[in-house]
Amino acid sequence: MKIAPHLHRLGNDVVASYLIDLPEGITLVDAGLPGHWHDLLRELEAIGRPLGDVRGLVLTHGDSDHIGFAERLRAETGAPVFVHAADAHRARTGEKPKTPMGPFRLGPMLGFLAYGLRKNAVRTQHVREVVEVADGDVLDLPGRPVVVGMPGHSPGSIAVHVPAVDAVFVGDALTTRHVLTGRTGAQPAPFTDEPEQALASLDRLAGLPASWVLPGHGAPWQGAPASAAAAVRTA
Ligand SMILES: [Zn+2]
Repeated sequence: MKIAPHLHRLGNDVVASYLIDLPEGITLVDAGLPGHWHDLLRELEAIGRPLGDVRGLVLTHGDSDHIGFAERLRAETGAPVFVHAADAHRARTGEKPKTPMGPFRLGPMLGFLAYGLRKNAVRTQHVREVVEVADGDVLDLPGRPVVVGMPGHSPGSIAVHVPAVDAVFVGDALTTRHVLTGRTGAQPAPFTDEPEQALASLDRLAGLPASWVLPGHGAPWQGAPASAAAAVRTA
């Protein structure tokens, strides 16, 4: 689905990842669930670009619902997979600390599980090779993505700021649709390791100039990152 010029979303409000198509090549942000591989191929076909145009994939963090087709992409195309050093182990092994689930409603929670089954979440492959990045890195990929450290949801959670498409990709640093309650609007994401730290990290987001804030779960947020951060704090 096209969001804006050169900016596409794969998946839906339940689980989303993003594609940036520029003349020099394609950058992906997050890899959703394994079944989103077919969504990727469909989107590429729709814009008339071959898989070989994908120059790299940047993971906002290492959780399983964000690395879905990463290993397949890496193995089939050789495209590098970037992840913050503090989440590299999580992306490679799937190991993560247990967090209390928090509030949920049965319908949305079952919807999340059912969507995961449909998109092959149980078959998620860990990423065998990653390129570790750090806060402040500017990646040599189409759009020159900037890594912004947002620890809290996980130690290596990042926002990915891409001025070329006027967007910041936030993974689960915030959500605009709570996968367990179905509640919409900017708010803290569930399954967060360190909720206090995640809120503090919103300061990093608030300083970024962009017109789009794009989460891993929920509708695209059109507006300044500062307003999204403020909305999360008052949710
Ligand atoms: Zn997630």
